[in-house]
Amino acid sequence: MSKEARLNAVAAVTRWQPRTPPEATAHVEDIFGANVFTLERMRERLPKPVFKNLLATIDRGQKVDPSIADAVAIAMRDWAVDKGATHYTHWFQPLTGLTAEKHDSFITPTFGGGALKEFSGKELIQGEPDASSLPSGGLRTTFEARGYTAWDPTSPAFIVENPNGTVLCIPTAYASWTGEALDKKTPLMRSMAAISEQAVRALKIFGVDANRVISTVGAEQEYFLIDSNFFYARPDLMTCGRTLFGAAPPRGQELEDHYFGQIPDRVLAYMLEAEMELYKLGVPVKTRHNEVAPGQYEIAPIFEESNVANDHQQMTMTMLQRLAPKYGLKCLLHEKPFAGINGSGKHNNWALGTDKGKNLLDPGDNPHQNLQFLFFCTAVIQAVYRHADLLRVSVANAGNDHRLGANEAPPAIISIFLGDQLSGIYEKLEDGKLEAGAKAGLLGLGVDVLPPLPKDAGDRNRTSPFAFTGNKFEFRALGSNQSVAGPNVVLNTIVAESIDELATTMEKAVAAGKSVEDALGETIRSVMKDAKAVLFDGDGYSDEWHKEAEKRGLPNYRTTVDALPHLADAKNVKLFGKYNVLSEREVESREDIYIEQYVKVINIEAETTASIGRTMILPAALAYQQQIAASVSGAKAAGTDCVGGKELLDELCGTICKFKAALDQLRKVNDHDDPPTKLEHAKFMLNEVVPAMNAVREIGDDLEKTVPADGWPLPVYRDMLFVK
Ligand code: ADP
Ligand code: MG
Repeated sequence: MSKEARLNAVAAVTRWQPRTPPEATAHVEDIFGANVFTLERMRERLPKPVFKNLLATIDRGQKVDPSIADAVAIAMRDWAVDKGATHYTHWFQPLTGLTAEKHDSFITPTFGGGALKEFSGKELIQGEPDASSLPSGGLRTTFEARGYTAWDPTSPAFIVENPNGTVLCIPTAYASWTGEALDKKTPLMRSMAAISEQAVRALKIFGVDANRVISTVGAEQEYFLIDSNFFYARPDLMTCGRTLFGAAPPRGQELEDHYFGQIPDRVLAYMLEAEMELYKLGVPVKTRHNEVAPGQYEIAPIFEESNVANDHQQMTMTMLQRLAPKYGLKCLLHEKPFAGINGSGKHNNWALGTDKGKNLLDPGDNPHQNLQFLFFCTAVIQAVYRHADLLRVSVANAGNDHRLGANEAPPAIISIFLGDQLSGIYEKLEDGKLEAGAKAGLLGLGVDVLPPLPKDAGDRNRTSPFAFTGNKFEFRALGSNQSVAGPNVVLNTIVAESIDELATTMEKAVAAGKSVEDALGETIRSVMKDAKAVLFDGDGYSDEWHKEAEKRGLPNYRTTVDALPHLADAKNVKLFGKYNVLSEREVESREDIYIEQYVKVINIEAETTASIGRTMILPAALAYQQQIAASVSGAKAAGTDCVGGKELLDELCGTICKFKAALDQLRKVNDHDDPPTKLEHAKFMLNEVVPAMNAVREIGDDLEKTVPADGWPLPVYRDMLFVK
């Protein structure tokens, strides 16, 4: 990379010409789901009994019947081939947090040297991608056996277009030959079944008959866009997704002029195409706007059932990244691409609904609905109180360590914000205003119904990691780059457990002759005695809260390395086992994999820091040193004492020396012998390697402010964030 890389990149940006985007259509309904094998298309193309059979699986969560597979496969293939597909793939979500695919052609050679379009039920239902290099955390060894993919009929197949051909993508689960889940989708589906079973049971107490209860998710995605010329001039962005050097620009986000501001033309053109492509895939994207940091944006869909929402979230991330280059842009999904500038997160809006579409976390407007709401709301509060550790673990990764607790994202302490009204109701309930058999309205509160809870109340406290927002909870600690599957597996499972317990208590009380109201009042009071410790409406960024949370005994796992080892705690293994979400081996393998991922990420960052420091920054600084030295000796030869130049030279030499020493220290820790266990290795990365990297960066950023702008080899923050 030449020293001109940065200047060339700036020049290239100014020469950028808008490309003509595909013709925008005002009629979303014409394109929405065009590339999806929707229920409607299945109905059209499948024999009636086959369709009904399949519907039982999709709607009622019944096991897929292998005898219908051939018919579905033929219909799916014909539809895909009509759309120009030549290949199909079992699309799955390994524990890397990304999606994986291996394409197979529909073509099968025939005897006479011809070829036939083949795709059987067997190929639809099961695939053998092998994929032995994907992480398994010891669940299988490469020589042992292959990984298998299994069709998930509850998430529709879709077509990915490419100018040179299209591919049929079939959402699948991914497991070892022993049936252990090697992916993110399987436990998510198991957790949905668990919470459905418990919630259906609980609804019976309230006299409601539901076939199924569905956990719903709407994920708001933040991301950065920078010109791709800058991206390719920054080895750190290319290999790590974040800048490992970069001094704070004179102007950052303090003017707050970007947030909700006018979207730049190029960016808007990109967004429009991304949205259109997502519509074709049936992803219901709804909102777009500028975010807090310059160059930062957000996209949010309408919520869907969690399994489909999770698939669609992955498709959204993929699409954002795939389309950006068409507009000369790069989409950065990393949690913290730029130090000192807000990072990116993902808000996971979560609720429960019946198969009839009734939201169980909506307080409703009559006493009956209110009781039911209070039951489910209390279950969530108890779940979060009891398993705050798991929620924290579910958002732990190296990238998110830069955000959580850094006064731009919620703290690492998990607490719940309920808002004034709902908090008030819980306080009254706790005061024991409740009299047995009281008929004076809802739970003896003296009110007939709960007051309407303002839907945006929760939104006002951005410092809370887990907020009630009127008819759903919003888990705000997710990193922008992560799969939403993990956090939702945790949410569904911990709330399933809570609903199970609360329902058991109430069933007993009702059987003993108590009214549902009285039973609920007692249950809530007994739960809240302890669980209220997790409620906090104040400023989550403040030091007082950290002290107070400690007093309340709430866990505060500051880093990924503090959090991850708790995943396989006995309490958690028992929980996941009880609800058949993850076996002990599956939990342990995940802990193992995520710790290893942390080590790998930090290692790559450390190596990249060392390489940029030695091969780009040091040479630039030395070149400047030589320039000053030449000018000082030139001045001397001309008979003047260049005092300022000499001082500058001394200063620069000092900084270069310090920089070199910091690089040497980084090299030393990078060259360490690996500690004996993965966890010790991770601790070493956190305690030795990260500080050594930070030290190099700090001096490197000083040099950026000293070395002449035209001799600096890396695009600077001002270039990347403000050249649109
Ligand atoms: P805002 O927060 O801007 O007022 P909303 O509250 O309507 O907007 O929605 C924010 C996100 O929450 C959206 O992705 C939306 O689809 C999602 N959401 C709304 N209702 C639910 C629900 N019942 N379950 C899950 N997500 C939901
Ligand atoms: Mg939000």
